[in-house]
Amino acid sequence: GSSHGGYDYSFKILLIGDSAVGKSSLLVSFISSQLEDLAPTIGVDFKIKVLDVGGKKLKLTIWDTAGQERFRTLTGSYYRGAQGIILVYDVTRRETFTNLSDVWAKELELYSTNKDCIKMLVGNKVDKESEREVTKEEGAAFAQESGCLFLECSAKTRSNVEKCFEELALKILEVP
Ligand code: GDP
Repeated sequence: GSSHGGYDYSFKILLIGDSAVGKSSLLVSFISSQLEDLAPTIGVDFKIKVLDVGGKKLKLTIWDTAGQERFRTLTGSYYRGAQGIILVYDVTRRETFTNLSDVWAKELELYSTNKDCIKMLVGNKVDKESEREVTKEEGAAFAQESGCLFLECSAKTRSNVEKCFEELALKILEVP
Protein backbone atom coordinates (compact mmCIF):
# COMPACT_ATOMS: atom_id res chain seq x y z
CA GLY A 1 0.00 0.00 0.00
CA SER A 2 0.86 3.66 -0.22
CA SER A 3 1.89 3.64 3.42
CA HIS A 4 5.37 2.58 2.42
CA GLY A 5 5.96 4.44 -0.78
CA GLY A 6 3.91 2.97 -3.59
CA TYR A 7 4.49 -0.72 -3.57
CA ASP A 8 2.70 -3.78 -2.23
CA TYR A 9 5.66 -6.02 -1.47
CA SER A 10 9.38 -5.55 -0.99
CA PHE A 11 11.81 -8.35 -1.86
CA LYS A 12 15.55 -8.73 -1.44
CA ILE A 13 17.15 -10.58 -4.34
CA LEU A 14 20.80 -11.64 -4.64
CA LEU A 15 23.00 -12.30 -7.62
CA ILE A 16 25.71 -14.88 -7.06
CA GLY A 17 28.14 -16.79 -9.23
CA ASP A 18 31.71 -16.63 -10.48
CA SER A 19 33.47 -13.46 -11.43
CA ALA A 20 32.76 -12.15 -14.97
CA VAL A 21 29.71 -14.33 -15.67
CA GLY A 22 27.71 -11.12 -16.15
CA LYS A 23 25.99 -10.51 -12.81
CA SER A 24 26.45 -6.74 -12.90
CA SER A 25 25.57 -6.61 -16.59
CA LEU A 26 22.31 -8.44 -15.90
CA LEU A 27 21.47 -5.96 -13.21
CA VAL A 28 22.30 -2.94 -15.36
CA SER A 29 20.47 -4.46 -18.32
CA PHE A 30 17.38 -5.03 -16.19
CA ILE A 31 17.39 -1.64 -14.52
CA SER A 32 18.13 0.61 -17.46
CA SER A 33 15.74 0.68 -20.37
CA GLN A 34 18.36 1.39 -23.01
CA LEU A 35 21.43 -0.63 -23.82
CA GLU A 36 24.58 0.73 -22.30
CA ASP A 37 28.10 -0.21 -23.16
CA LEU A 38 28.86 -3.46 -21.46
CA ALA A 39 32.09 -3.00 -19.59
CA PRO A 40 33.34 -4.96 -16.61
CA THR A 41 31.72 -3.51 -13.54
CA ILE A 42 32.69 -3.65 -9.94
CA GLY A 43 31.24 -2.13 -6.83
CA VAL A 44 27.61 -1.95 -7.89
CA ASP A 45 26.25 -3.01 -4.47
CA PHE A 46 22.51 -2.89 -5.13
CA LYS A 47 19.81 -1.37 -7.27
CA ILE A 48 16.08 -0.95 -6.79
CA LYS A 49 13.31 -1.47 -9.31
CA VAL A 50 9.56 -1.50 -8.85
CA LEU A 51 7.88 -4.11 -11.04
CA ASP A 52 4.23 -4.48 -11.93
CA VAL A 53 3.56 -8.19 -11.70
CA GLY A 54 0.22 -9.92 -11.38
CA GLY A 55 -1.52 -6.65 -10.55
CA LYS A 56 0.87 -5.98 -7.68
CA LYS A 57 3.69 -3.49 -7.32
CA LEU A 58 6.82 -5.29 -6.23
CA LYS A 59 9.83 -3.40 -5.00
CA LEU A 60 12.92 -5.43 -5.81
CA THR A 61 16.17 -4.59 -4.09
CA ILE A 62 18.73 -6.50 -6.11
CA TRP A 63 22.16 -7.04 -4.62
CA ASP A 64 25.29 -7.57 -6.61
CA THR A 65 28.44 -8.94 -5.02
CA ALA A 66 30.51 -5.89 -5.99
CA GLY A 67 33.37 -8.12 -7.05
CA GLN A 68 33.77 -9.76 -3.67
CA GLU A 69 33.04 -13.19 -5.16
CA ARG A 70 36.61 -13.06 -6.44
CA PHE A 71 37.79 -13.56 -2.89
CA ARG A 72 34.97 -15.95 -2.00
CA THR A 73 34.21 -13.82 1.02
CA LEU A 74 30.47 -13.41 0.76
CA THR A 75 29.18 -13.84 4.25
CA GLY A 76 25.99 -14.33 6.18
CA SER A 77 25.13 -10.65 6.07
CA TYR A 78 24.95 -10.71 2.27
CA TYR A 79 22.49 -13.60 2.32
CA ARG A 80 20.43 -12.48 5.29
CA GLY A 81 16.78 -11.79 4.57
CA ALA A 82 16.92 -12.68 0.89
CA GLN A 83 13.69 -13.98 -0.63
CA GLY A 84 15.26 -14.77 -3.98
CA ILE A 85 18.68 -15.82 -5.24
CA ILE A 86 19.80 -15.77 -8.86
CA LEU A 87 22.68 -18.16 -9.54
CA VAL A 88 24.45 -17.04 -12.69
CA TYR A 89 26.85 -18.93 -14.92
CA ASP A 90 28.36 -18.18 -18.31
CA VAL A 91 27.23 -20.69 -20.97
CA THR A 92 30.59 -20.18 -22.74
CA ARG A 93 32.71 -21.15 -19.68
CA ARG A 94 31.99 -24.59 -18.28
CA GLU A 95 33.93 -23.98 -15.07
CA THR A 96 31.45 -21.26 -14.08
CA PHE A 97 28.71 -23.90 -14.34
CA THR A 98 30.52 -26.60 -12.36
CA ASN A 99 31.50 -24.04 -9.72
CA LEU A 100 27.80 -23.54 -9.01
CA SER A 101 27.56 -27.03 -7.54
CA ASP A 102 31.13 -27.20 -6.20
CA VAL A 103 31.31 -23.81 -4.55
CA TRP A 104 28.15 -21.77 -4.61
CA ALA A 105 25.63 -24.41 -3.60
CA LYS A 106 27.78 -25.19 -0.56
CA GLU A 107 28.01 -21.56 0.37
CA LEU A 108 24.25 -21.21 0.03
CA GLU A 109 23.73 -24.11 2.39
CA LEU A 110 26.06 -22.51 4.87
CA TYR A 111 24.74 -18.98 4.82
CA SER A 112 21.25 -18.86 3.39
CA THR A 113 19.06 -19.16 6.45
CA ASN A 114 15.74 -18.57 4.71
CA LYS A 115 14.41 -22.00 3.81
CA ASP A 116 11.65 -20.48 1.65
CA CYS A 117 14.18 -18.65 -0.49
CA ILE A 118 13.41 -19.09 -4.22
CA LYS A 119 16.38 -19.89 -6.43
CA MET A 120 16.73 -19.22 -10.14
CA LEU A 121 19.52 -20.67 -12.24
CA VAL A 122 20.51 -18.40 -15.12
CA GLY A 123 22.80 -19.28 -18.02
CA ASN A 124 24.03 -15.96 -19.40
CA LYS A 125 25.74 -14.91 -22.69
CA VAL A 126 23.58 -16.99 -25.04
CA ASP A 127 24.36 -14.41 -27.72
CA LYS A 128 27.76 -16.14 -28.01
CA GLU A 129 26.18 -19.33 -29.32
CA SER A 130 29.27 -20.41 -31.29
CA GLU A 131 31.33 -20.42 -28.08
CA ARG A 132 28.79 -22.33 -26.00
CA GLU A 133 30.24 -24.98 -23.65
CA VAL A 134 27.16 -25.77 -21.55
CA THR A 135 23.99 -27.01 -23.26
CA LYS A 136 20.54 -25.82 -22.29
CA GLU A 137 19.67 -29.41 -21.34
CA GLU A 138 22.55 -29.56 -18.84
CA GLY A 139 21.38 -26.31 -17.30
CA ALA A 140 17.81 -27.53 -17.05
CA ALA A 141 18.90 -30.83 -15.48
CA PHE A 142 21.02 -29.13 -12.82
CA ALA A 143 18.19 -26.71 -12.06
CA GLN A 144 15.76 -29.57 -11.57
CA GLU A 145 18.19 -31.47 -9.32
CA SER A 146 18.79 -28.46 -7.13
CA GLY A 147 15.26 -27.12 -7.04
CA CYS A 148 15.82 -23.96 -9.05
CA LEU A 149 13.83 -22.20 -11.71
CA PHE A 150 15.84 -22.00 -14.93
CA LEU A 151 16.33 -19.61 -17.83
CA GLU A 152 19.00 -18.81 -20.37
CA CYS A 153 19.51 -15.16 -21.23
CA SER A 154 21.79 -12.49 -22.61
CA ALA A 155 22.58 -9.31 -20.73
CA LYS A 156 23.99 -7.99 -23.99
CA THR A 157 20.88 -8.37 -26.17
CA ARG A 158 18.58 -8.21 -23.11
CA SER A 159 16.95 -11.43 -24.26
CA ASN A 160 15.05 -13.00 -21.33
CA VAL A 161 16.56 -10.55 -18.80
CA GLU A 162 13.24 -9.10 -17.60
CA LYS A 163 11.78 -12.58 -17.57
CA CYS A 164 14.44 -13.80 -15.11
CA PHE A 165 13.50 -11.22 -12.52
CA GLU A 166 9.76 -11.37 -13.22
CA GLU A 167 9.50 -15.15 -12.97
CA LEU A 168 11.51 -15.12 -9.77
CA ALA A 169 9.35 -12.35 -8.30
CA LEU A 170 6.15 -14.18 -9.27
CA LYS A 171 7.39 -17.33 -7.57
CA ILE A 172 8.32 -15.40 -4.42
CA LEU A 173 4.79 -13.96 -4.38
CA GLU A 174 3.44 -17.52 -4.17
CA VAL A 175 5.38 -18.22 -0.97
CA PRO A 176 2.83 -18.34 1.83
P1 GDP B 1 30.30 -9.99 -13.10
O1 GDP B 1 31.72 -10.00 -12.62
O2 GDP B 1 29.67 -11.33 -12.93
O3 GDP B 1 29.47 -8.89 -12.53
O4 GDP B 1 30.37 -9.78 -14.70
P2 GDP B 1 30.24 -8.42 -15.55
O5 GDP B 1 28.82 -7.97 -15.57
O6 GDP B 1 31.26 -7.46 -15.07
O7 GDP B 1 30.58 -8.96 -17.02
C1 GDP B 1 31.83 -9.54 -17.32
C2 GDP B 1 32.12 -9.37 -18.81
O8 GDP B 1 31.18 -10.12 -19.60
C3 GDP B 1 32.01 -7.93 -19.28
O9 GDP B 1 33.03 -7.68 -20.21
C4 GDP B 1 30.65 -7.88 -19.94
O10 GDP B 1 30.62 -6.91 -20.96
C5 GDP B 1 30.52 -9.26 -20.52
N1 GDP B 1 29.11 -9.72 -20.60
C6 GDP B 1 28.20 -9.73 -19.61
N2 GDP B 1 27.04 -10.23 -20.03
C7 GDP B 1 27.20 -10.56 -21.34
C8 GDP B 1 26.34 -11.16 -22.34
O11 GDP B 1 25.17 -11.51 -22.12
N3 GDP B 1 26.90 -11.37 -23.57
C9 GDP B 1 28.18 -11.02 -23.87
N4 GDP B 1 28.62 -11.26 -25.10
N5 GDP B 1 29.00 -10.46 -22.95
C10 GDP B 1 28.52 -10.24 -21.71
